[in-house]
Amino acid sequence: MTLHLDEPDFRCSKCTARFIPFRKENLCPDCGCGIESDEYLNFIKRLAGSMEINKVTYGFYHPPVWLNNRFSDRIQSLTFNVFEALEQAKPKDGKAFLSHLINKKLNFATDEKYLAKHLEDITLEVYKIYKEKRFDLIEYEPSKRSRIKDWFKTFMP
Ligand SMILES: [Zn+2]
Repeated sequence: MTLHLDEPDFRCSKCTARFIPFRKENLCPDCGCGIESDEYLNFIKRLAGSMEINKVTYGFYHPPVWLNNRFSDRIQSLTFNVFEALEQAKPKDGKAFLSHLINKKLNFATDEKYLAKHLEDITLEVYKIYKEKRFDLIEYEPSKRSRIKDWFKTFMP
């Protein structure tokens, strides 16, 4: 079993771009209009929690099998991949590495160019938790999984 955050897709009321309004006050990453929402305030913590569980369970952030049914699944998948790359590269400046990777190396479709900036925003928030909790030191240890899962549950709606 893999942990999908299963957030309902959110669309900008003005331009219909899909994104995760993870702050109370957000700017649509595509058209820039202001969006207020308090439905996704735990998103960053839950995303970081799913990374933690995956690393303990599989030894990797990205599980071997992963379906992108929802937009949040795709954001999870992209985030897993960039942190996997970060950990392999072990750069001095983690933030700069993530920003460069997302903006210069990932390819987004023409109508999804706004996703680069949005993904960067999300991963830099996750990076704070990553550093604070030393995710880089997490070891593959399937028996630990249930304990972390309980921690993760506290963020479930
Ligand atoms: Zn918009």
